Amino acid sequence: MTNIKYQLSYFLKHRCAVWEFTLKCNSKCIHCGSSAGKSRLNELNTEEALKLVNDLHSCGYDGIALMGGEPLLRDDWYEVAQKIKKNKMKLTIVSNGLAIIDKIQKLKKLQTDCISLSLDGATPNTHDYIRGIKGSFDKVFKSIQLLKAQNIPVSVITTVNTINFKELNLIRDLLIDQKIAWQIQIALPIGRFPRSLVVSREQFYGIAMFIASSFRKYSVKELPLIGGHCFGYFSMLLPELGLDLWIGCQAGKSVLGIQSNGNVKGCLTLPDDFIVGNVRVNSIHDIINSRFDLRNSQLLHKYSSQNYCNNCKMFKKCKGGCLGTAIALNSYDNPYCLRVIEKKLFKNEEFPFRWKIDSKISRYKYLYNKFLMKQI
Ligand code: SF4
Ligand code: SF4
Repeated sequence: MTNIKYQLSYFLKHRCAVWEFTLKCNSKCIHCGSSAGKSRLNELNTEEALKLVNDLHSCGYDGIALMGGEPLLRDDWYEVAQKIKKNKMKLTIVSNGLAIIDKIQKLKKLQTDCISLSLDGATPNTHDYIRGIKGSFDKVFKSIQLLKAQNIPVSVITTVNTINFKELNLIRDLLIDQKIAWQIQIALPIGRFPRSLVVSREQFYGIAMFIASSFRKYSVKELPLIGGHCFGYFSMLLPELGLDLWIGCQAGKSVLGIQSNGNVKGCLTLPDDFIVGNVRVNSIHDIINSRFDLRNSQLLHKYSSQNYCNNCKMFKKCKGGCLGTAIALNSYDNPYCLRVIEKKLFKNEEFPFRWKIDSKISRYKYLYNKFLMKQI
């Protein structure tokens, strides 16, 4: 797989364990869903961490994304990363970029498959405000340059809230032709992120249009961009914004979430009620194979929904979108469903599928252009 493709796909394509390696963090992001800062009580020690890597490998996981907190703050990060590579698994490190610079040589030696850095503003003012640390914008860009100079694949993740959503076009300008994969995702009201800064459904739709219009304007080579799992679903006007056609929440399927104390859940975005075991008590193999029944949560989705998901003809394919998003927004219907927002915007009118819109039906093409081409 080419680097850009790998950079774009690591969240979705293979079986990837997303591991909160430590909750310790040197940033103070306002949107942090884990309220990171200090280590969790009783985080896995080095021996347990190394065993977990082997166990994930033997369970068929072919990638591990180390995240935090800030994963590079753990003293044994290099040892554990080496073990991941020794098992021929893909290694992704999701970092705030504050601790990269002096580790470049080690990251190169590891042949890290992707370093994913957070970029939450187009200017130092915005980025540093959101991350809570002065100088972090400059450090991220310095890290990007150094990583690129060493041919280490790099991607950036922008988490959008009401403060930074108007800067998306400026962030885009910074990333064009840089061979940096870019993922846009929405900040959810979990951890310490206040509900007051969550984007409205109209703003959300505007961001979706921004992604769609960027697809039209730039080739994948110029701007390898995707929307995260929160961007969907089955829009009647916009193209698919994720990497592939949406096939439903991947929690417990191609995605697995592990907390730094060994708790396991389908995805780290889900609340702790979804913890299904702990690797200190049960083997990861047992957790995945016998105790881990994500169907429960999807049934929960189905039966708890009183409104649009239950009556939606796409439900079988969609399964209600991102479960973490729906729960964070206190709803079993996903308020960020593009399909539902469109019905509201266009007064409940049903549209044909978008391939028809892309073809010759001028009435729909008119709407498509009217909304899509109004860029942010
Ligand atoms: S209404 Fe629900 S099931 Fe239908 S597309 Fe939207 S999120 Fe998916
Ligand atoms: S909860 Fe959301 S982010 Fe997590 S796997 Fe499901 S769709 Fe993806």
